[in-house]
Amino acid sequence: MEIDCLFCRIVAGQIPATVVRETDTTLAFRDINPQAAVHVLVIPKEHYADVATLTQADPALAGDVLGTAAVVAETEGLLADGFRLIFNTGQFGGQEVFHAHAHVLGGEPLGPMRA
Ligand code: IMP
Repeated sequence: MEIDCLFCRIVAGQIPATVVRETDTTLAFRDINPQAAVHVLVIPKEHYADVATLTQADPALAGDVLGTAAVVAETEGLLADGFRLIFNTGQFGGQEVFHAHAHVLGGEPLGPMRA
């Protein structure tokens, strides 16, 4: 756990979150500032700064994050109409919280991605 990491503190139960799914290695909770009708964040419980670092260090754990994201998409009812899965990474990617996380977005049409 990283003392100054917001998402590590959510994993530790020090900051409240609306958890929608938990596994041994991952946690999924609702984004505090949703950008779509459904907006869930999926994180590895172990701290990695971003998805690239995570995948290099522990590809199986990266797979766990994807697996949890897919289950969340199903349980949130997103499979029929589709959804978006995003890992903002680094400065140009617009990453604000430096604990790897997937955004699961859906529940309404999301429009085209900007290039
Ligand atoms: P990023 O820009 O990909 O790093 O996304 C960080 C996300 O974390 C943003 O969508 C924020 O709204 C979200 N967020 C920040 N603090 C909290 C929190 O305490 N609970 C849930 N989501 C949060």
